[in-house]
Amino acid sequence: MASRTKLFLFCNLFLLLTAASAQQPQSSRDAAEIRGAMEFLASDAMQGRGSGSHDELLAAVYLASQLRQIGIEPAGDDGGYIQNVSGEFNFFRQGKKQWNTRNVIGVLKGRDEKRKDQVILLTAHMDHLGIREAVNGDNIYNGADDDASGCVAVLQLARALARKEAPKRTVLFVFFGSEETGGQGNQYFLEHPPVPLKNIVANLEFEMIGRPDAAVKPDELWLTGYERSNLGPELAKHGAKLVADPHPQQQFFQRSDNYALAKQGVIAQTVSSFGLHADYHRPSDDLAHLDFTHMEQAIHSMLGPVEWLANTEFKPEWVEGKKP
Ligand SMILES: [Zn+2]
Repeated sequence: MASRTKLFLFCNLFLLLTAASAQQPQSSRDAAEIRGAMEFLASDAMQGRGSGSHDELLAAVYLASQLRQIGIEPAGDDGGYIQNVSGEFNFFRQGKKQWNTRNVIGVLKGRDEKRKDQVILLTAHMDHLGIREAVNGDNIYNGADDDASGCVAVLQLARALARKEAPKRTVLFVFFGSEETGGQGNQYFLEHPPVPLKNIVANLEFEMIGRPDAAVKPDELWLTGYERSNLGPELAKHGAKLVADPHPQQQFFQRSDNYALAKQGVIAQTVSSFGLHADYHRPSDDLAHLDFTHMEQAIHSMLGPVEWLANTEFKPEWVEGKKP
């Protein structure tokens, strides 16, 4: 008996060890994926991913390459992921001017005949402020929180959804260019959508989730315009740690790419945990000031709820009188 027990224990130990070496635990793999993508996008080498710049293009190519690896199909121009954006666009203060930028678009097609035309749109903006006046000797505006963190959240959601059986609904992953200059990538996307806008059931934009907000609980995220639709409350019912935006005076609902979509009638809201930190739009919004533990937890908390949204029949609606 003794020897058989030993053999049994030995076999179990052997199986455990081989399993451990073949596969990292999910949480440490997620953490490494998040850190790896952040260390590229928010690196000094990217020179702040200035709107419409070559550095923004590098970010776009990187995100496209990640989508390819993940197994998300391209839905940009000419069978690729990148949607080239060129033309006359509205700018803050300056009015209309010629501009070139790009979006990155990938799609995970729904498997259900009846629901595959219903689209869940997950977005973030890949550009930031580029190189500007130095603050404390640093002139690279890395935009780690704003909005490399949102891009990486969208990538991780893509990874999680692609690992499983295709969802019933179609999921579109979009990284917008030139948000910081007024949403030119987004304006173009709305004029040249890869799916009819009326098919978009909901848009979740991810903005600045790289640090916790002291105005809410440490594990909570907030949703802009929470009271405007029933999307936030339903996601919360399905496990999202989502609460109302604690900074209504900041008008964040109107301050990201979601707003232009919302004005077209799409239920479009932004997930964030921006606690009005002093590094906002400064060179110190960099990797050193990120809270990776928070970011991992924040992304993890949205995986289940987004998966639910991609499979359910629930269609969010505006609250009476709250549609922008
Ligand atoms: Zn932003």
